[in-house]
Amino acid sequence: MFQKLMVANRGEIACRIIKTARNLGIKTLAIYSDSDKNSAHVLLADEACYVGPSEARKSYLNIKKIFEIAVEKNVDAIHPGYGFLSENHVFSKKVNNMGIIFVGPEWKAIKTMGNKKNAKQAISKAGIPMVPGHSLRENMGSESLLNDKTLEYPLLIKAAAGGGGKGMRIVLNESELEGSIQSVKREALSSFGDDEIIIEKYIQGGKHIEVQIAADHFGNIIHLMERDCSAQRRYQKVLEESPATSIPQKIKEKMYEAAISVSRAINYTNLGTVEFIVDTSGKENDMSFYFLEMNTRLQVEHPITEAILGIDLVEMQLEIAAGKKLTHKQQDIKSRGHAIEARIYAENPRKNFMPSTGKISELRFPKNVRLDFGVKQGDQVESHYDPMLGKLIVHDVNRELAQKKMSDCLREFKIKGINTNLEFLYKLNCEPRFLENIMQVDSVEAIAEKFRKETALHSHFASAAILFLFLQNKFEKKMWRIWGERGTSLRLCHHDRFCEIKLIAKERTLKLFLANDSYEVSDIEISAGVIEFTLRGYTIKYEYERENEIVRVFDNGTIFDFELQQDYEARDNTEINEGKVIAPITGTVIKILKKNGQLVSMGEPLIIMEAMKMEYELKAPKAGRIKKMKVKTKEIINQNDILVEID
Ligand code: ADP
Repeated sequence: MFQKLMVANRGEIACRIIKTARNLGIKTLAIYSDSDKNSAHVLLADEACYVGPSEARKSYLNIKKIFEIAVEKNVDAIHPGYGFLSENHVFSKKVNNMGIIFVGPEWKAIKTMGNKKNAKQAISKAGIPMVPGHSLRENMGSESLLNDKTLEYPLLIKAAAGGGGKGMRIVLNESELEGSIQSVKREALSSFGDDEIIIEKYIQGGKHIEVQIAADHFGNIIHLMERDCSAQRRYQKVLEESPATSIPQKIKEKMYEAAISVSRAINYTNLGTVEFIVDTSGKENDMSFYFLEMNTRLQVEHPITEAILGIDLVEMQLEIAAGKKLTHKQQDIKSRGHAIEARIYAENPRKNFMPSTGKISELRFPKNVRLDFGVKQGDQVESHYDPMLGKLIVHDVNRELAQKKMSDCLREFKIKGINTNLEFLYKLNCEPRFLENIMQVDSVEAIAEKFRKETALHSHFASAAILFLFLQNKFEKKMWRIWGERGTSLRLCHHDRFCEIKLIAKERTLKLFLANDSYEVSDIEISAGVIEFTLRGYTIKYEYERENEIVRVFDNGTIFDFELQQDYEARDNTEINEGKVIAPITGTVIKILKKNGQLVSMGEPLIIMEAMKMEYELKAPKAGRIKKMKVKTKEIINQNDILVEID
C-alpha cells in the first residue's frame, strides 16, 4: 500500500478520503488555498501545503503547483476526490508519467467518458440501450437538423463536454430549436471551451438510476448495486437513496449487466458509476432504461452504497490503485436496509436557491448518524467554491424508517449565520411524491416552486409576536405585564417580509393590529414548545421553538421562522435602495448587458454574475433609465455592493 497520499481537493470529500487513508496507515498530505488555511481538511491531514490564492483556477486547479508539491513532498499517490481535477485526463496522465499513482481509472477512460458523444460511440458495440439522438459540431445555420422532421419533441440539448448539469436545455417544440441550440453552444464554449452539442429525446417522467461498479487491473469487474438519484434540481442531485426500491429486480439485474458491459468496453479500472435514465411510463416489468454517461470518479453520493453494503469505497479505490485484486466477489455483495443521503447547501431556497456566504456562527449536528462535513463552527463560507457544506447520511432497516430518521435529523440540525437548504430538505423528505417513492427527475422543481410560495399567515405572525413578548417576560402567569392605551409594537421579519405588529394588552386578553386589520386574542396558553390561543373565535395551536433571536413556528409540517427586528429603523434600507441593483452575493461580473443612459423595463436582465460555480442574472428592480452602471466585466464584487442605479 502507499506510504503517502496527496488529497488534491478540499471540503468534505478531502476529509472523507483522509479518514480512510489514516485507517489504512497511509500518511496524508492536504493542499489548501488562502481561504482554507484553517479548514477541517487541513487540520485533519498529517501535513498540509499552501497551493495558491482562493480562486480555484489558481489553487485546486493549478496543476503545475500541485505537481511541485507532490514531488517536493515525495507522495506516491494522488486522490483527486470529485470535481476539480478528478475528471481531467491531462492531469491524470501527467501524474502517471511522473511515476505517481492517480487514484482513479486510466487517463484514456477519463477522456472517452468526458465527452458524451465519444462515450456513446465507444460503447456502441456493447449493445447498451441509448437515448435516441444526434450529435452536432458544425455551426447551425439552416442545417439539415432544423429540417429533420423525424425529431421528436420534447428533446434535450446537452453540451458534449458538459457536466454538473450545466449547458443543458429542454426544447418543447420546433420553434425553440434553433435559439436553444445557439444558446447551449454559447454556454458550452464559455464553460467547457468546446461548443459541440448532442441532442437527445427527452424522457418524460424519467428516473435517474445509477450503478456503481468496481474493476481491478486483472479484468475483474463487479457491480455494487444501484442508487436512485431522481430527486434533482436543475439536473443536480439533492436527495439520493439506495437501493432503488421502485425499480423491479429484473430490470435492475439488466442494468447491472449493462453497467459491467460499459466498463468492459473501455477497459475500465477502479471505481466508476454508470448513469441511466429509466422510462417509468411503461409496464412495471417492461421499463426501458438508457445509458446517460459514466462518471469516472468517486461520486458525491457514494456513502449510501457504503451504508447498505458495509464496504469502504475509498479503501477499495486505494487498493485497486495500489495494484491489488478485488477482495470482493460478486456473490459477496449483499445489501442491508435502506440508506438516504441529503446534500446540505449554503443557499437560500426562497431566493431562487442563491448561494449564501458568511460566517457559520453556530453548527449543531444531529447525533448518532453519519455526517460527511468539511466545515466547522466559526468557518467562513466563501464564494469561490461549490456551496455544498456536507452530507447527512441515514441508514435503517427499511425505506420508511430511513425516511423517518432523515426527518428527525433534519429537524435536529442547526446551522446559523448563513442560509441553508435544511428546511427545504425537510420538506422534500416529507413530500408525498418522495414518501410514495414516485419521484421523477423533474419533480423537485414543482416542489421548490410550492415551497417558495409558502407564506406565513396572520396567525403565524400573531403567534410569533406573542411568543417574543412571553420570552421577554411580558406575559407571565397568563397575565399581560404591558399596560397602557398605546400598547407596544414589534417588528418581525419572516424571510424577506417585514411586518409591524401593535399589541394592546388587557389582563388576559390582547388586541392585535396587523396589516390594517385588528384581532381579538384570548385564552393564551404557552407551555414547553406549544402555544395555544383563540383568535377571532378560532382555536390556534402550534408547536414552536426558540433559537437566539429566532422564533420558529411549526404548522402541519411547515416551518415559519420569525426574527425580531430590534433596531429596525436603522436596518430598513428598502427605501434608500429603491432603483438600485445590489449584489446578492460576493462573486465576479461575467457580462454587462446594458449601458449608461439606456432605458430598461422592470425585470430586464442587466448583469450576469458568477458565484460558487453558478451564474446569476441580476435584473432591473424597476423600469427607468440607467443612471450609473458601476461595475465592469470581470470585476470582483462584494455582497451588498451597489452595482447599478436606475433613475
Ligand atoms: P451531467 O453530465 O451534466 O450530469 P447528464 O447527462 O448526466 O449530465 O444528465 C443530468 C441529468 O439530466 C440526469 O440525471 C437526468 O435527470 C437528466 N437527463 C439527462 N438526459 C436526459 C434525457 N434524455 N431525458 C430526460 N432527462 C435527462
